[in-house]
Amino acid sequence: MKKQILVTGGAGFIGSHLCDKLLNEGHYVLCVDNFFTGGRENVSHLLGNENFELIRHDVTFPLYVEVDEIYNLACPASPVHYQYNPAQTTKTCVVGAINMLGLAKRLHVPILQASTSEVYGDPTIHPQPENYRGNVNQIGPRACYDEGKRCAETLFFDYHRQHGLNIKVIRIFNTYGPRMHPNDGRVISNFIVQALKNKDITVYGTGSQTRSFCYVDDLIKGMTMMMNSKEGFTGPVNLGNPCEFTILELAEIIIKMTDSKSKIVFKPLPEDDPKQRKPQINLAEEKLGWVPQIKLEDGLKKTINYFNDVLTND
Ligand code: NAD
Ligand code: UDP
Ligand code: UDP
Repeated sequence: MKKQILVTGGAGFIGSHLCDKLLNEGHYVLCVDNFFTGGRENVSHLLGNENFELIRHDVTFPLYVEVDEIYNLACPASPVHYQYNPAQTTKTCVVGAINMLGLAKRLHVPILQASTSEVYGDPTIHPQPENYRGNVNQIGPRACYDEGKRCAETLFFDYHRQHGLNIKVIRIFNTYGPRMHPNDGRVISNFIVQALKNKDITVYGTGSQTRSFCYVDDLIKGMTMMMNSKEGFTGPVNLGNPCEFTILELAEIIIKMTDSKSKIVFKPLPEDDPKQRKPQINLAEEKLGWVPQIKLEDGLKKTINYFNDVLTND
């Protein structure tokens, strides 16, 4: 059945891939974005598509449209971007969630929230299951994002309990792939761009901190599977790839894959940088039948090709 689907943050990295998938499935997509970190270039290939509509709008303001489903992704995701205007980040998370929940309530439609592994903060339990309540420093520089996303989850569950809304909450772990912003400061984009330019690879701290990286196509499958899961399964559900690497290992893999002359240099570790992160994904497997398929080196190959093209055309 053809649906009209709203994707907020649809001109961003993950959002633009979601728009692609929903259009491929035959739906009509309304993409709403204020172009803070995303841009028209991420969806320029869709602009001529009669099933695609792009609206410049900030979700901290009310939005009156008619749709059958809502994916709420609007929010800067990289530490550099979300700390640029931290109060605005919290507003986007919280007021944005209220507006999109109000819209879902008026229309009686399902709504999916792109939450994050950051709700676990610097975790003291490893790997992280969904029932772990986290270790967030609520007054630190990452709190605008972490606490904003935590409050958005609270709002989703209150609208579910109070108004019977069909909510779907996913906690996304580090995701990478084509259309990441080359200057967003995230580790994969930084390392690939540095390696391709034969510049120093900047490892923060000793590089012993770990992350688990999920290729964007795997994530998007999980997102749509969650939206289409039976009503009553609200999550939160972790979506991420449990293969864990240290940041130093990642640097070495990228140097090798790009055949780069770059040297590794060590820079100060940012405040409150989580020491380890790895999703427990039994719930996604059991409830959605979702398991990520794409290995780090395969995903990196596609991402390196993408950045190669971006840098060549620069
Ligand atoms: P992104 O920065 O590429 O995309 C976010 C999009 O939201 C951008 O296009 C931006 O312009 C838009 N936006 C920001 N504030 C807005 C506002 N007030 N109104 C309307 N649009 C606004 O980041 P991404 O990596 O694609 O992340 C998408 C979502 O997934 C975010 O909610 C993020 O928190 C979540 N997430 C991402 C990751 C990851 O590893 N990429 C991990 C966990 C959670
Ligand atoms: N809202 C919106 N679009 C709608 C309906 C509501 O943007 O179609 C916003 C509106 O700004 C409102 C918020 O969602 O403040 C929360 O709506 P809700 O009905 O839950 O609460 P209330 O209207 O009582 O504040
Ligand atoms: N990082 C790094 N060098 C960089 C960028 C990031 O060593 O040039 C580290 C960062 O300190 C963190 C990890 O890589 O420990 C992942 O950082 P990212 O910003 O990608 O995501 P997040 O910290 O939100 O998981």
